[in-house]
Amino acid sequence: MLSTRGSNLLGVGNYNQALILDLIRRSPEGMSRVELAEKTGLSAQTLTNVTRRLAAEGFIAEAGKVGSGPGKPRTMLALEPSARFAIGVHLDPAVTTVVLLDLAGHVVHHREVQPTGSSSQQQLEAIGAVARELVASLPDPTRVLGVGIAAPGPLDTHTGRLLNPPLLPEWTETPLRHELALSTGLPALLEKDVIAAMVGELWVTPGGELGDALFFYYGAGAGVGLSLAGTPLRGATSNAGDIAHLIVDPDGPACECGARGCLGVSLEPATLLADARLPASTGSVPRDPRASLDDLCRQALSGSARPVAVLTRAAERIARGLVQLDNLLDLTDAVMGGPVWARLSPFMGPAVADALGRAGGVATVNRLTLRESRLGTDVAAVGAACLVLDGAFTARPSHLLITG
Ligand SMILES: [Zn+2]
Repeated sequence: MLSTRGSNLLGVGNYNQALILDLIRRSPEGMSRVELAEKTGLSAQTLTNVTRRLAAEGFIAEAGKVGSGPGKPRTMLALEPSARFAIGVHLDPAVTTVVLLDLAGHVVHHREVQPTGSSSQQQLEAIGAVARELVASLPDPTRVLGVGIAAPGPLDTHTGRLLNPPLLPEWTETPLRHELALSTGLPALLEKDVIAAMVGELWVTPGGELGDALFFYYGAGAGVGLSLAGTPLRGATSNAGDIAHLIVDPDGPACECGARGCLGVSLEPATLLADARLPASTGSVPRDPRASLDDLCRQALSGSARPVAVLTRAAERIARGLVQLDNLLDLTDAVMGGPVWARLSPFMGPAVADALGRAGGVATVNRLTLRESRLGTDVAAVGAACLVLDGAFTARPSHLLITG
């Protein structure tokens, strides 16, 4: 859990500013100076200085007074969501999503770029054009802080390149970060999609609710984003979270790695649709299975035997994966999300909870709490935009540079 204590030392104004903004941002009704003082331990003078500076820069505004009992009514300070914005891009085999996010984490605009039949260069141009259009739609485009890009791994975050993503072969060795920075004129960040999803979830969740948690991301592939003590876990090369070869079903399908029943191959949307005898995609976009997945979920909810069996087995495989991850890391929450999950969750949510309740091999003391992602189908794109906001505004003690 991140500390909420401030520092009254000189020279740490930016840290205090980020801390206060973070507390106000996570409180939908706003916060009074009295509450802020209680939470941070900052002196009244320091608090007045910090909140005055935040108000002068347009980040917060007074939002009425509340009074309970004796004493002066307290002035509430609330976030100004339109103070800053960020662009988020999610590169996905089925569809690339571009969002404009405000400081409150709300999606102001959502656009999709279809990858059909175009090279990565053409797609980059299309993504850049959409991003520029979203920035230009704002009365003050200078309020956009940057563009965050979420992409399937593996990737090289030092050079901002995708390496050899198995689901996006045409993007191999593409200098994605550099190209998008160039075409938008904005600072750009690149992050693996599952880590971006976890960052996004942490950004929009009230402080302290997600400490040791995983984000089970189910899209064209499945992966996990991890948060330990409230901080996203990236690993040595920022590629943490690949669970494709976690074995979850000894009787499952053969995997290219030589084993059977690896989580990735067992949960592939195309495999589920084939098992349920539904087409892999409908309509004009060959790699977009969204309509077929909606059909699969609808049929399962109506009790159709084969779809029920297919999705129940998928839920059991997910539950086995969750148990192994929980045993390894001793977590409290599993946040479920991603574009495929969002389509299947009306059936899969209860089915995974049920399978988790029946699962053997649980070695942890607390049962994992399942939650739905707060961010819906756009989670990776929103997470990508949150990376930009998180980098600019989240108070972390590591940002405290006290020398001497
Ligand atoms: Zn495998």
